[in-house]
Amino acid sequence: MSKIRMTTPIVEMDGDEMTRVLWKQIKDTLILPYVELKTEYYDLCLKSRDETDDQITVDAAEATKKYGVAVKCATITPNAQRVEEYKLKKQWKSPNGTIRAILDGTVFRTPIMVKGIHPTVRTWKNPITIARHAYGDIYKDVEMNIPCAGTLKMVFEPADGDKDKRQEETVFTYKGPGVAMGMHNLEKSISSFARSCFKYALDTKQDLWFSTKDTISKKYDQTFKLIFENIFAKEYKADFEKAGITYFYTLIDDAVARVVRSEGGFIWACKNYDGDVMSDMVATAFGSLAMMTSVLVSPDGIYEYEAAHGTVTRHYYQYLEGKKTSTNPMATIFAWSGALRKRGELDGNEELQKFAGRLEKAAIETIEAGEMTKDIFSISEAPNKKSLTTEEFLGAIAKRL
Ligand code: NAD
Repeated sequence: MSKIRMTTPIVEMDGDEMTRVLWKQIKDTLILPYVELKTEYYDLCLKSRDETDDQITVDAAEATKKYGVAVKCATITPNAQRVEEYKLKKQWKSPNGTIRAILDGTVFRTPIMVKGIHPTVRTWKNPITIARHAYGDIYKDVEMNIPCAGTLKMVFEPADGDKDKRQEETVFTYKGPGVAMGMHNLEKSISSFARSCFKYALDTKQDLWFSTKDTISKKYDQTFKLIFENIFAKEYKADFEKAGITYFYTLIDDAVARVVRSEGGFIWACKNYDGDVMSDMVATAFGSLAMMTSVLVSPDGIYEYEAAHGTVTRHYYQYLEGKKTSTNPMATIFAWSGALRKRGELDGNEELQKFAGRLEKAAIETIEAGEMTKDIFSISEAPNKKSLTTEEFLGAIAKRL
């Protein structure tokens, strides 16, 4: 059998710990036997980021801009303990944050659904994808402890010195101690978020929901609502109609109620804090973090696929002791299949797109037939289910493939 050829490389970003082990196993058993894989390889493991003063992360992001499709392994975001453990020059920033800033993208997280694992919410039949605006609001706020009675003001000083644009508002007049917070956001960032969401909805042919609290926040949240509305009307309405999908805006509290009653099968765009909270709620209700995929989509159509989970450190230490682990490779397999499918679409390579579909089908059917890793064993209702090691599970998928 001849292998499937590729014309353009995928940017491959290798990572850390147990997911790095999975990375190689997935390539060796599920991809390389069938695809003449073309990648431009960047090693984003912590040691290599430290050696290059994190330049490797920037280079990988720039290469992604050039080629349009990347696949990324989970990486360690160092904290003080990791600085000690890896004897790092400094506490490097999160690679995902660096890449997201360079690509100006939005992260879409989608659960992988399989028969036998039921979402906690009975009505959910299809995956719900959460898109989180990852800029500003309380994540870049300024806070104050107010020690005593006094007046809190918010002042805007225009850079050009134009007095007509100067603004001053009294936030509150305190009669005693309290707290205060100031937040901001940017038209540019909200617009990019909106375009990434519309693009991804068209791409995946799913309805797009967006929710804020614009009835209460008449300038801040209202701006989000209007930017989405304007961009939709001017740039995407016609394409949505052609694709038979809809854009739907509603208040966040109404959205929550509707989501819980829905069958799923749509994208829910959320402001930064809402997305933070709702993505964990949706992930947990769908079953498992290990079954959650993630894709970063830039407003100009660049895609970076990854698993939503981390490097599974606990399993890695067991692996280093020579013990067998049962780490779930599903989200990382789907990161690869997502990247291969997108590369295939962009290059008009049908064989590659079909392969991505076969890989996902083989992986899902393996679990549905009762062969799975330990983390989902307890929640699966598959008949005659068996808990397998990582290698056994990958072997079972390879057999089906
Ligand atoms: P984690 O996702 O690695 O693990 C969280 C919990 O879920 C653990 O109990 C783990 O055993 C379980 N789990 C996660 N994925 C699993 C899988 N595939 N199979 C079986 N069980 C799985 O997150 P953590 O423990 O908070 O972080 C570990 C490291 O990962 C940290 O250094 C962190 O910086 C990094 N991290 C990276 C990313 C990323 O690159 N996108 C995301 C999150 C965390």
